[in-house]
Amino acid sequence: MSGFDVNQVRKDFPILDQEVRGRPLVYLDSAATAQKPQAVIDALVRFYQHDNANVHRGVHVLSERATEAYEGARETVRRFINARDVKEVVFVRGTTEAINLVAQTYGRKHIGAGDEVLITQMEHHANIVPWRMLCEQTGAVLKVIPVDDRGELVLDAVDALLTERTRILAVTHVSNALGTVAPVKELTRRAHAKGIPVLVDGAQAVTHFPVDVQDLGCDFYAFSGHKMFGPTGIGVLYGRKERLDAMPPYQGGGDMILSVTMEKVTYNRVPYRFEAGTPNLEGAVGLAAAIRYLEALGMENVAAHDRELLAYATQALESVPGLRMVGTAREKSGVLSFMLADIHPHDVGTILDREGICIRTGHHCAQPVMQHFKVPATSRASLALYNTREDVDALVRGLHKVLEVFQ
Ligand code: PMP
Repeated sequence: MSGFDVNQVRKDFPILDQEVRGRPLVYLDSAATAQKPQAVIDALVRFYQHDNANVHRGVHVLSERATEAYEGARETVRRFINARDVKEVVFVRGTTEAINLVAQTYGRKHIGAGDEVLITQMEHHANIVPWRMLCEQTGAVLKVIPVDDRGELVLDAVDALLTERTRILAVTHVSNALGTVAPVKELTRRAHAKGIPVLVDGAQAVTHFPVDVQDLGCDFYAFSGHKMFGPTGIGVLYGRKERLDAMPPYQGGGDMILSVTMEKVTYNRVPYRFEAGTPNLEGAVGLAAAIRYLEALGMENVAAHDRELLAYATQALESVPGLRMVGTAREKSGVLSFMLADIHPHDVGTILDREGICIRTGHHCAQPVMQHFKVPATSRASLALYNTREDVDALVRGLHKVLEVFQ
């Protein structure tokens, strides 16, 4: 694989080079949050050491530098997802805030009693609860695209669920609980054929393969910095310019206005209309550094590494006696969710922790898809660009230890 050497990559992530509980750390929880390369840590320190000031309003040199860094980060994000225009990039707190923003602005304006919001069975709570809240506020109805026993969307059901009352389709690009990659380009095509806008939750996608919002054709695309090797507290809502232009503001405050009197407020243009208050400046700067890091590695290389490692890990885990994979879609990315015999996932996770292996156990904020698979929780190992076959081998050895304990 040209230009991608996982052992070199690991050296960029200082946190990985440590022992925990007397063992070398094996970090397999990047779907929850990813580790940060030194380049991101350095960018944060440099910003605070050299450039920190508030943006947009200042006339002094530091404010100019901070504004340049913040707006430069917006351009870096635009390039990364191939948006047409920097005005289509709204900085938010993360995926969760991005989806709430769309639900409470686009949703409150365009979705009313009896209208339908279409999501899927495998959404993260971040792409369920804001829509349920909207339904409770407006009397709209939440409809759900089912998944089958592999954890793939039942595409045959989609056309009938896209009705003349459907006002938005909100779908995850990659399921954090199953790893399923949804065919979002095809879903967007079908929804657009009926004039229905599409929001894509890209939280688990942007870290694993190249994303091109123009190619996908979606109206909104949401993701979080912390899952893509950037800081926490920063994320992105991409929105097609014409959609954002037609949306009312989300929160009120500084920077989102053009003028204020006690009688009347004139709102700023997009994207500033949606960025009330002092934004997460260092977060944007750190996110831009993470993107430059990914671009230097090459997202195609990252995707190839992920594919290869997922195939290796799938085979390795299937060799563990009593292990049942939850989510066996033909197109998967980054996530291995499983049950081990009749051992509770929390016990699996606790015993692995003693071996220095970090995985996640629980419902992964995706209770409806757990209900579909009739499990309250799973064990989830998730992969990132710094994981190796040795990490997977350590996990397999750890799972054998778990089995020994419960024999
Ligand atoms: N959607 C998916 C698919 C996720 O995996 C997550 C995070 N687990 C979110 C949304 C929410 O992201 P955040 O907590 O960063 O807002």
